[in-house]
Amino acid sequence: MHLLKYLQAQGLGSRKQCQVLIKDAAVLINGQLCTDARMEIEPSNVSSLQIDEVNLPPVPLPYFYILLNKPADYETSHKPQFYPSVFSILPEPLRHLNMQAVGRLDADTTGVLILTNDGQFNHRCTSPKHKLPKIYRVSLKHAADESLCMKLQQGVLLHDDNETVKAEKAELTDSHTLLLTITSGKYHQVKRMVAAAGNRVVALHRSAFGPWQAEDLPVGGWHFFQPDFDKLQDA
Ligand code: URA
Repeated sequence: MHLLKYLQAQGLGSRKQCQVLIKDAAVLINGQLCTDARMEIEPSNVSSLQIDEVNLPPVPLPYFYILLNKPADYETSHKPQFYPSVFSILPEPLRHLNMQAVGRLDADTTGVLILTNDGQFNHRCTSPKHKLPKIYRVSLKHAADESLCMKLQQGVLLHDDNETVKAEKAELTDSHTLLLTITSGKYHQVKRMVAAAGNRVVALHRSAFGPWQAEDLPVGGWHFFQPDFDKLQDA
């Protein structure tokens, strides 16, 4: 791909803005100054990208996948209403890439969230047909016992829904902490399930999304990753 196209695909601006960067000798790829807009770039060979003396993480092309350890008080939306967008956590050029979150987390929910420009992957992960397991650590308002886990595993009727939903797995790690595995992704599902079972969620953390976890990332930390599609098949 030509250098000019490559820079645009990195979220660095319009065709005109990227032409200016090249003309101003502001672009270094793998430590080499690049001044010809038609220079051929092989995206998989780019290990470092420097623009105006600032190092930027090269975005893998054509598809990229970001694993984010979502902090509380960020909305999973490009048009947030009350809190900043999760996309605002990424460095400036990346925010301009056309990407979506793979399923939503509520503003107050923390943990694994994947962002990608790969629509097929997104569909594969979120389609109810594929039943990708998601594990949540749920902090409960009221002390609970085994009967809560039984109710959740047998199925509860959600308010405003005429179907029951079941947890794949529910176990208490202490009287106020529940580990819940679900394979569907309805709106506010965990909070509604726990409410339907007679308790209340006071804090929610997603510790696994299919085969992916974010425990090795600091809160608000992120990295690019390459999904192992075979692993996804088995998840
Ligand atoms: N279930 C919820 O209730 N909230 C989330 O953010 C995710 C699952």
